[in-house]
Amino acid sequence: TQILQPIKFKQKNLSFPNFSSTMSNQRLHGKVALITGGASGIGEKTARVFAENGAIVVIADIQDELGEKIASEIGQNKASFHHCDVRNEEDVEQTVKFTVEKHGRLDILFSNAAVMGPMAGILELNMEEFENTMRINVKGVTATIKHAAREMVKRKTRGSIICTASVAATLGGVGPFGYTVAKNAVVGVVKAACGELGKYGIRVNGVSPYGVATPMTCRSYNMSVEEAEESSSALANLKGIVLNCRHVAEAVLFLASDESVYVSGHNLAVDGGFTVVCTAAN
Ligand code: NAD
Repeated sequence: TQILQPIKFKQKNLSFPNFSSTMSNQRLHGKVALITGGASGIGEKTARVFAENGAIVVIADIQDELGEKIASEIGQNKASFHHCDVRNEEDVEQTVKFTVEKHGRLDILFSNAAVMGPMAGILELNMEEFENTMRINVKGVTATIKHAAREMVKRKTRGSIICTASVAATLGGVGPFGYTVAKNAVVGVVKAACGELGKYGIRVNGVSPYGVATPMTCRSYNMSVEEAEESSSALANLKGIVLNCRHVAEAVLFLASDESVYVSGHNLAVDGGFTVVCTAAN
């Protein structure tokens, strides 16, 4: 087939970006970004970092109160919230529609919503819980890319799509069974979508964090995010919670901005070298 093509900058409407904006702290000036799972943790911090860099942000999440609060903290003209359960394709389609109707365009999708799912291993796995993890972490990511990319193609927007995978996608046994399977699938989604969307000038990348202090990780270890962020916290260090959300948000900012204009199909580990070290140790 002819669908697997790299980005061609000489195509009509796909001129090379002007790098002058990247010299400032307004690296996303004039861009509109949609962030799923934007009401908490990595998604929330990325929403704030994107807005600091000049983007208008739509936070999409199932936590309505929290999402509304964060959007209003960022500022009325800079952010808005839209309820979206990524398991429901209709919700996803409506959220993309809301974004372009309210803000006129869609340049960046950060497809980030996920759950850890059941902690059980394969021997004890509850298949309904497993299916729910796949519906959020894989089907949700796929649906958001589908609808965001349709809009980008329709408007000839040279968009950037970033999906949150995990080091669990590279290393077996780091996360629970269902989560590891789902995050491997996310890396597959990134590759497949990159191959198909390159001809429209749309880039698709993954980001794979490890050990970030967020409600998701801290809940599993019965500690607060504040406790985990304390570098002196022995428990946090023991459990490998070593990064804060800003470490990941800055990497996502790079993938969202024109500075990464020729980076596509990549899965960027933000893990302080954890993956390499683990691989070498084996
Ligand atoms: P978090 O729990 O703080 O944030 C996840 C957000 O996703 C929440 O706001 C939640 O409400 C939302 N969400 C859950 N189900 C949803 C649904 N059906 N529809 C819409 N939104 C939904 O956790 P986090 O650590 O910030 O996780 C963000 C991403 O980072 C996830 O993809 C996670 O797998 C990934 N990740 C996190 C770490 C880490 O160490 N924290 C490591 C690797 C990958």
